[in-house]
Amino acid sequence: MSIAEGVVQLLEEQSLAQNYTRVKHVWLEIGPLAAVESEALRFCFDAVTRNTLAEGALLDIIDLPGEAWCLGCATTVPITQRYDSCVHCGSYQLQVTRGDELRIKELEVE
Ligand SMILES: [Zn+2]
Repeated sequence: MSIAEGVVQLLEEQSLAQNYTRVKHVWLEIGPLAAVESEALRFCFDAVTRNTLAEGALLDIIDLPGEAWCLGCATTVPITQRYDSCVHCGSYQLQVTRGDELRIKELEVE
């Protein structure tokens, strides 16, 4: 619930700076390490946006890939969770470089 509320709060803050009064469509980017359940967020979003400037807005969730730097291979490898091992060498010496994003990519407003 708190993530959806955070998104609405962000939309309300931005509406003051960017001078819009209604949000019609939200595109959210979410990495696999952000620990966000897309379906739960979608469900919460409808409830949380009721009686706000984003009431009835469409929500699109874009899943971003996760990436880490493998010390063993000295290369970037894909990961789907924080404590994955390297897909090439099996090492756990990975430094996460991408995947914990939770951000608004685009808005359609009026
Ligand atoms: Zn490796």
